[in-house]
Amino acid sequence: MTTSGFDVRPNAHPTDAAIRDEILGNSGFGRYFSDHMAHIRWTADKGWHGHEVRPYGPLTLDPATAVLHYAQEIFEGIKAYRHADGSVWTFRPEKNAARFRASARRLALPELGDHDFIGSLEALVAQDDAWVPTPASAAEETSLYLRPFMIASEKFLGVRPSKEVDYYVIASPAAAYFKGGVKPVSIWLSSNYKRAAPGGTGYAKCGGNYAASLAAQKEAEAHGCAQVAFLDAVENKWVEELGGMNLFFVYRDGRIVTPKLTGTILEGVTRDSIMQLARDEGLTPEERHISIDEWRDGAASGEIQEVFACGTAAVVTPIGELVSDDERIRLVDGGGEIGKRLRTQLLDLQYGRREDTHGWLTRL
Ligand code: PMP
Repeated sequence: MTTSGFDVRPNAHPTDAAIRDEILGNSGFGRYFSDHMAHIRWTADKGWHGHEVRPYGPLTLDPATAVLHYAQEIFEGIKAYRHADGSVWTFRPEKNAARFRASARRLALPELGDHDFIGSLEALVAQDDAWVPTPASAAEETSLYLRPFMIASEKFLGVRPSKEVDYYVIASPAAAYFKGGVKPVSIWLSSNYKRAAPGGTGYAKCGGNYAASLAAQKEAEAHGCAQVAFLDAVENKWVEELGGMNLFFVYRDGRIVTPKLTGTILEGVTRDSIMQLARDEGLTPEERHISIDEWRDGAASGEIQEVFACGTAAVVTPIGELVSDDERIRLVDGGGEIGKRLRTQLLDLQYGRREDTHGWLTRL
């Protein structure tokens, strides 16, 4: 049996339907996984081969496997959404595929083409369709989160690009990020830690970036904050992004500003989509440097009306305040009307409740 060129080995012991439905109704994020995973192998001599969908299960890795020592690894995050007619769709997968190749180049891993990347999502979801939740209402932002990743799997302790690589996609049902409605969050401004430096790996989605952000995330939690905001590593002045989301600032006159991509920021698919939706609304999105002083002064004067973060997981999250060792920057009003509207538009598009004028949806 094959789907888009993937050999399918069905799971002989799939999760019981009643247990699966219980998980789908109560899944949180990232703790439960569907019955299958997609896999493609790469070797220096043969290139990409062995496309398969096989039962979800543990990997057996030699203790000397390269990724365990030198973190030659990249990943992606993208969701599958069920529409009212039962069909399943994903959002701008070619953007994730392109970002995955950019990450691969930076981590000296082999590049995977759109056909294999999108094909692997299709093949997995075809097998695990029942794991894509059916939202009972628009408020129920449930989806199947897809996690493609690539690891250096050669058994070798020398520091050089691995000659063997494995690519997998696993899937985890995701409930709405905010239970009981979207609420403004407090963000910690890290002064002890930096996320990315020029010439480093900031624009790549590699595990190392996230490992390096955890100490800052611990600090954030110790101060009652949900996530960390990072400033640039050179001048300690320019606002970059959160640990896992991009940032937007909404001005009184309708300008919407997001930090420009300098190589140290992850190029978010949501970020790009928000800019387009804002343009469609007659707003003027700008990509430029924005300093922490501009945030502080704009929040105090009311010139900045809203700050929000965006990403695949939580869509759009209003930021109520920025907390650091010596100050709290609060927004005067914090109502977040524009962020709320863009959030609804994006969700309506993803769940098929709004016309897909930009051709952003791909059927899985
Ligand atoms: N920045 C970082 C560091 C992230 O991990 C993510 C999540 N992928 C984002 C921004 C948002 O990107 P996207 O909109 O593609 O999910």
